[in-house]
Amino acid sequence: MPPQRVLVRALLAAGLLTVAIGTVFGLSTPGSPGVKAFADIVQLLLSAGAALASARASSRATGQLRLSWRWIAIGTGGWSIGQLAWCYYELGLGVNTPFPSVADIGFLMFPMGTAVGLWFFPNHQNRQLRLRSLLDGCVVVGALVSISWVLVLEAAVKAATDDGAFNAAVALAYPIGDVLFIAMVFYSLSWSGPHRRTQILLAVGMLAMAVSDSGFTYQTAVGLYKTGSLLDLGWVTAFLLITVAAWDAAGSRTAQPQSGEIIVDAPFILPYLPLLLAVAVSTGSYFGGSRPDLIQVGAIVVSVGAVLGRQYLTLIDNRMLLAVVAAREEQLRHLSMHDPLTGLANRALFTDRVSHALALHRRDGRPLALMFCDLDDFKAVNDTYGHPAGDELLIRVSERMRGALRAGDTLARFGGDEFAILIEDGGLAQIVGDRLIESLAEPVLVSGTLLSVQASIGMMALAADDTSPELETLLAHADIAMYSAKRAGKGRVVQYDASMMLPEIADLPLRIPLADAVTAGEITTVYQPIVSLTDDRVVGMEALARWTHEGVEILPNQFIPLAQRAGLIRPLTSLMLERACADLMDWCRQIDDMDLRVAVNVPSRLISDLTFLDEVAEVTLRHGMRRGQLILEITEDTLLGDLPTAKAVMSQWSELGVPLALDDFGAGHAPLLHLHQIPLRILKVDVGLIANLDSDHRAERFVGALLGLGRELGFDVVAEGVERPGQLEALRRLGCRNVQGFFFARPVVAADVPALLMRSLTPLESAY
Ligand code: C2E
Ligand code: CA
Ligand code: CA
Repeated sequence: MPPQRVLVRALLAAGLLTVAIGTVFGLSTPGSPGVKAFADIVQLLLSAGAALASARASSRATGQLRLSWRWIAIGTGGWSIGQLAWCYYELGLGVNTPFPSVADIGFLMFPMGTAVGLWFFPNHQNRQLRLRSLLDGCVVVGALVSISWVLVLEAAVKAATDDGAFNAAVALAYPIGDVLFIAMVFYSLSWSGPHRRTQILLAVGMLAMAVSDSGFTYQTAVGLYKTGSLLDLGWVTAFLLITVAAWDAAGSRTAQPQSGEIIVDAPFILPYLPLLLAVAVSTGSYFGGSRPDLIQVGAIVVSVGAVLGRQYLTLIDNRMLLAVVAAREEQLRHLSMHDPLTGLANRALFTDRVSHALALHRRDGRPLALMFCDLDDFKAVNDTYGHPAGDELLIRVSERMRGALRAGDTLARFGGDEFAILIEDGGLAQIVGDRLIESLAEPVLVSGTLLSVQASIGMMALAADDTSPELETLLAHADIAMYSAKRAGKGRVVQYDASMMLPEIADLPLRIPLADAVTAGEITTVYQPIVSLTDDRVVGMEALARWTHEGVEILPNQFIPLAQRAGLIRPLTSLMLERACADLMDWCRQIDDMDLRVAVNVPSRLISDLTFLDEVAEVTLRHGMRRGQLILEITEDTLLGDLPTAKAVMSQWSELGVPLALDDFGAGHAPLLHLHQIPLRILKVDVGLIANLDSDHRAERFVGALLGLGRELGFDVVAEGVERPGQLEALRRLGCRNVQGFFFARPVVAADVPALLMRSLTPLESAY
C-alpha cells in the first residue's frame, strides 16, 4: 500500500479542488448558464475520472476484490453516462432535463453498482459476522426508510404519483438509493480487515453522495433545485473520494489475511443510533399531528426485527465463545499436567497419581511401585551434539520406555533426563524395571547418528502389608535407590532398602579416610598387562588404583567417583603417575626392555589443565622416560566438551610425547563421527562390548565395525575385559591386535610384573 503520507497528500489535493469548485459555486448565482455549464462539466469529468480509476483498480486487483472494483466502476461509469445525458439536455439542447429521462437510468446505476461493489468487498469476516453486518444494515435501512418517509419520501411520492406510477417509482428510487448508501456506510464501517482504509474512503464518499442526493430529491420535489448550488459539492466530494480510494487501492499489495487473527467486532451501538433517531422522528411527527402509516411502522418493525435477530446471533456467539473458552481451558489444563517435549505426564500430574495410589494402598492395601529413572551421561549428549539432538534423544527414549510399559502404568518426565514410573499393581515391578533397561539396549538413532543410552533406575515397591509411607518419603526412597543404581555402575535397576543413603551422605564416613589415604600414599597400585596379539607379547601395563580401608577393599568404582566429588582426584592421580613411572623404569631395567609402556587413568578434566601437563613433563623427564612410554587413558566424556579446545589441548599432549588413549570406547556417547579430528592414538573397546562377544552375533558385528573404524582412522585398538578363549578367538577373527583381561592376567602388584613379563615371552596360545 502506498505510504500513508502519499495518501494524505492526495486527500489534501482532493480537498483543495473541492474548496476551489465550492468557491466558484458560492460566488455565482445557482442556475445561471455559466455555472450550470461549469457544474455539469466538472461533475462529468470527476465521475468519469472516478469510473476510470475504479476500472484501473479492478484490473490491478485479483479475486473478489477485482469483482468489487468492477461493480464500483460500473456504478460510477453509469453515473457519468447519466451526467452526459444531463449535459446533452442542459447544455446541448438548452432545456431543463426532463424527469424521468435516460439520465436517471445512469444515475440510478450508481447506488446499485457501489452497493454491490461494497457488499463483495473481501474482508476477514466469517459468515457469522457477515450475517451480523447484514442485520446491522437492516436495522439501519429500516430506521432510515422510516425517517426519510416522514421527512422526504411521503411528500415526494405524493407529488410523483400525480405524474403516474412509473414516475413515482423513479422518484422513489433516489431516496431508496440514499438509504442504501447510508446502510452501506454502516455496513462498511463495521468491518475489519485488510481493506479498511479503502472502505473508509468509500464510505465517506457514499455519505457525501447521500447528502447531495437527499437534498436533490427534496429540492426537486418542492421545485427548488438549481444546478451549481453548494448542494452539488456532495457529488464532487463523492467522486473525488472514490478516485482517491481507487488510486490508493490500485497501488496496494494486499496482505494475506492472517488466520487466527482476532476480529474486533464493530462498536455495538453504531447500528442502534439510526433506530433511536427513527423512533424520535416518528414520535415527533406523531405529536406534530400526523398519524403513523403502514410504511413508517413497517420500516421500524423491520429495524427492530433485525435488532432482535442480531441479539439472537450474539447469544449464539456467546455460547460458541463459552465453548472456545472451555476448550482453551482444557488445553491449558493439559499443558499444566504434561511435559511439552515428550507429551508425558509432568511432575504435578505424577505426584497427584502417586498420592492417589498411596491412598488406595493405605485403604485397601493395593500394592504399588515407584521408579525414578535417570539417563546415564546424558549431559555429554547435549554438550556434544547440541540441545536439539538431546531433545530428540529424550523423545526417542520416552517412546522406548512407553513401549516397555503397560496401559495402566504412568510414565512421567520430571525435566532434564529424569523420568518417573508409577506401577499400580506392584507385583510385576521388577520385571517392568528390567524391561525398561532392556528397551534402551539398542542404540537410538538421533539425527542420523546412533547413540547408545543407558538409564539408572531406583525402585521403591510397596507390597500389600507394608506400612504406607508419606508421599515425600516414598519419592525420596526411590531417589536414593536411583543414586544407588548410579553408584553401582549405572544401567541397572536397584530396589530401595533401608541401608541406602544419598551419595553425599554415603560419602561422609569415607571422605576423611580417603583424604588421609591419598596423603599418606596408602592408595596402592596394581598393574594389568596389555598384550599384543601379533606376537603375543606384553606391550604395556595399565596402572589401577587400590584402596583397603579398615581391612575392607573399597572398589575403584566407588572411591574414584568419591575422590572426584571430594576434590581428591588430582593428588590421587599424581600419586599414581609418580608410582607408575617409577615402577615402569624399574621393570625396564630388570628385564632390559626399553619398549615397555605404562598407562595411567586420568580424569577427563585434568587433560585440559596445563599445570597437569607441566607436572607430567617434569615426571617423565625426571624418570628418564622415552617418548611414548607413558600413556594417559581418558574416558569419553573429555572429548565431548567443545571440540576445538579438545583438539588444541590434545595436540599439546602429543607434542610432549604422551599418547592419549580413549578408554571405555563404545560404552557411552563417543562422538564416532568426530573421532578422526581428535589426536588420539589408542582406542580401548569397553569391557561391556567384549562381554558377549562369544555368544552374541550382533555384538561380534558391532565390535567388528568398531575395530574397522579404529583401523581406518589409524588408531591402535585394545579390547578390554577378555575373560574367555571364545572372546579371544572372535577378536582374532576380527583382526584385533591388542587385548587386556583376566584371561591373560588379573591386575598384579608391581613386584610381580617382571615375572609376568618373562612368562609372556612364551606364546600365549599355550595357555589354553
Ligand atoms: P578401567 O580404566 O576401564 O579399568 C579396567 C577395569 O576392568 C579394571 O577394574 C580391571 O580390573 C577390569 N578388568 C580387567 N580385566 C577384566 C576382565 O577380564 N573382565 C572384567 N570384568 N573386568 C576386567 P578396576 O581396577 O576395578 O577399575 C575400575 C575403574 O576404576 C577403571 O576402569 C577406571 O575407570 C577406574 N580407575 C581405576 N584406577 C584408577 C586410577 O588410578 N585413576 C583413575 N582416574 N581411575 C581409576
Ligand atoms: Ca583404563
Ligand atoms: Ca576401560
